[in-house]
Amino acid sequence: MDILRYGSRGILVELLQSTLKKLGFYNGTVDGIFGANTRDAVYTFQREFGIDIDGVVGPITWKKLMPYINGTVGNIVPTNMSYSYRIMIMNINDLKRKYDFLSVGSLGSSVLGKELPYIRLGIGPSQVFYSGSIHANEWINSVVLMKFIEDYAIQYEQNGSLYGKNIRELYNEKSIYIAPMINPDGVDLVVDDMSKMSNAYKNARLIASNYPMISFPSGWKANILGVDLNLQFPANWVLARENKYAQGFIRPAPRDFVGYGPLTEPEALALYNFTLANNFKLILAYHSQGEVIFWRYLNLEPEEARKIGEEFAKSSGYILDENVDTGSYAGYRDWFIQDYRRPGYTIETGLGINPLPISQFDKIYQDNIGILIQGATLV
Ligand SMILES: [Zn+2]
Repeated sequence: MDILRYGSRGILVELLQSTLKKLGFYNGTVDGIFGANTRDAVYTFQREFGIDIDGVVGPITWKKLMPYINGTVGNIVPTNMSYSYRIMIMNINDLKRKYDFLSVGSLGSSVLGKELPYIRLGIGPSQVFYSGSIHANEWINSVVLMKFIEDYAIQYEQNGSLYGKNIRELYNEKSIYIAPMINPDGVDLVVDDMSKMSNAYKNARLIASNYPMISFPSGWKANILGVDLNLQFPANWVLARENKYAQGFIRPAPRDFVGYGPLTEPEALALYNFTLANNFKLILAYHSQGEVIFWRYLNLEPEEARKIGEEFAKSSGYILDENVDTGSYAGYRDWFIQDYRRPGYTIETGLGINPLPISQFDKIYQDNIGILIQGATLV
């Protein structure tokens, strides 16, 4: 961990603030700016834990903070800060260490070489799959999925329930596969956890400069090469290209560029191959925002899809969209419905402008806990 002091900025400062808040030493906002309030909280922490009171977070202070970060004391997944790839990986490692019944694997890797992790909950024969953050500025859903994994693990250990379902039963009946962050390079760009000196960042900024109406980096949905990963699937990809070209997205862009062919991008190809390699009865593709559920695709969806969708709408309070053809093609869910004729849902969480503020987390999580359980129990 980097040494943090007055004036430091970034995701590790957010982690520090979030942890000090957990301990009751910090009341300010988690903003990633190490100012006077953060320094005061560090002073208090250092005094309480009997270490040198210098207001600097070096190896000794990090070591004392670590039990409150890695789940030795309290929960692991922070739900009040930006969530970048390295925070997620740290959380996955800590969850795996604390709950050895979780199994973790990889879908493949991103353009910048980051492994795309999945977590498997359960050993049951019936498989379902949930994914999040295929769009970079929708990263709040990575936190939703990670928090769900932690809550599932806690309830498994305590022989408890979530949304009325006993988790040990669920564990034996179903396997829920979760890929919380399909587009980690894009997420790191949006949450400002990527060096501005890196070629990847400079290239992204150059791509964005061709689309001045899209704010940078907050409007970024694509992968780091400017390809929208949810327009990469072989389900009317040519139609998607026609539509998006007509809208002016004819080259790499912060969003809505389909690429030069289907599945050209490693993240999309990894998701595609992972789906082929498994036997998912149902998929949930987590997006934001709108509090709406999409479930139809050109009348190819199976009959049971409506019934399940209605249950999702009931438990979440979200609207079940009735359009058969929303004019957007080549999405992951579109392809899944087209090729498998099984239920697939786009869940659009929250309301507002992406990236949604993390202050919406609690409501989004409460709204979606039913769907996350029903997604496995209703098939
Ligand atoms: Zn999206």
